[in-house]
Amino acid sequence: MKVGIIRCQQTEDICPGTACLACAREGKQAFGKTRAVEVVGFISCGGCPGKKAVARALDMERRGAKAIFLASCMTRGLPWDYVCPHLGRIKKSLRGNLKADTKVFDWTHS
Ligand code: SF4
Ligand code: SF4
Repeated sequence: MKVGIIRCQQTEDICPGTACLACAREGKQAFGKTRAVEVVGFISCGGCPGKKAVARALDMERRGAKAIFLASCMTRGLPWDYVCPHLGRIKKSLRGNLKADTKVFDWTHS
């Protein structure tokens, strides 16, 4: 299965996505639902307030992604317990613009 991952741009300076990519490769944590996947894109939301997230998710969908994973730095506030304040609007916009059968997962790892 091909997937895309969107992460918080604010955490790019401190994390290159190692745990997300390892879980995707090994089918662990949030990827336990999909098993091991092929990551077609690993990209940030584009920065606050996250309006580029939809365009980026649509691009990954065009490249074959059957699911979009929102990384835990966005949805669970890792590593500082700081959840994205724009998360609700980002998720609503993704759901309203992606294909109906493209899944949206709201975490990657704990
Ligand atoms: S969810 Fe974790 S591993 Fe993935 S990009 Fe965010 S901080 Fe890094
Ligand atoms: S919009 Fe949310 S996910 Fe994107 S950089 Fe800002 S806080 Fe992070």
